Order: sequence, then C-alpha cells, then structure tokens
Amino acid sequence: MNQLRAIAQLGNPVLRQQAEAVEEIQDPQLQQLIDDLIATAQNSNGVGIAAPQVSASCRLFIVASRPNARYPYAPMMEPTAMINPRIVAHSDEVIKGWEGCLSVPGVRGLVPRYKAVTVKYCDRTGQLQQQELTDFVARIFQHGLDHLDGILFPDRVESEQDLFTEAEYQKLIAEEEKG
Ligand SMILES: [Zn+2]
Repeated sequence: MNQLRAIAQLGNPVLRQQAEAVEEIQDPQLQQLIDDLIATAQNSNGVGIAAPQVSASCRLFIVASRPNARYPYAPMMEPTAMINPRIVAHSDEVIKGWEGCLSVPGVRGLVPRYKAVTVKYCDRTGQLQQQELTDFVARIFQHGLDHLDGILFPDRVESEQDLFTEAEYQKLIAEEEKG
C-alpha cells in the first residue's frame, strides 16, 4: 500500500540538511519510500518531490512532470526515481522560469537555472543512467538536486521582486494568456 507522507514545510530543519547518499537501493524501505513519494507528489499536483521533503534525509527525488492545475504546460512523463543524482555537464545558457515548491506553499518565484543538463543517477532497479534533460524537466532536476543540499528555490531568486504569492502569479499568467 502506498501512503501519503506529510510534507515538511519552510522552517523545518530537515529541509536545510545535506542529505546522505543512498547505499541500499533494493532495501524494501527505500522502495516503499519511492512509491510513497510518487503518490504524495501526485496527490499534491507536484511535478517532483525530494525525499527530504517527507523528512527522509537521503539523496533521492522523483521527477514526475505532467500537466496539472499547478503546471498546465508541463510535459508528460512517467514518474522517475533518481537516486544519488548529479550533474556531469550543463549548458552555458541559463534561463529564468517560474517555480513553486510543495514545501513553500503559496509562493512562486522566477528562478535562474541551466537550460540543459547532462545528468547521472541510479534508477530504482540500481542501474546507472545518463540522460540529457532540457527546459522544464532540467528545471525540475535542478530544483530537486538543491533539496538534497538543503537549498530552497527562494534562495535562488536574483531579487526579492521575483517572489510572488500564488494568487498574484495566477493573475499574471492569466494576463499573459490574454496577450
Ligand atoms: Zn521543492
């Protein structure tokens, strides 16, 4: 049975810890954590979730991009567990895009990230994977990796003026759509 787990919110010290490398990928408790993270992200309309967000301080996150109410233009993909992830190369180009976080509810920020990253991680079967990620999925990866190092997206904005409430963000997006 997959269980929804409680999401740690801004101010909880677990979000500021350096997470520990995963040693035993086949450990049933780790496999259960992966299933619970996927269920918890889907239940909250998240496009990703990192283990420290459910108070498990280990180097693992889920990338689960799909269109939903919080991110209507997100590309569709199978939820993927990325264990002991790292960036091995990145584009020179950095682009700003809107982010939110299940651990920072009600806030959006315009965050600079690499446009493309080449990444390595172990999948949930223990296989080493290398992938080139771009745009929104590259953004989710970089946001997730930050969680493993105790960094939250508001730390990354260039100016406090790039932080919006969810309500103001929705107004802005609605206006942009009207053109
Ligand atoms: Zn987050």
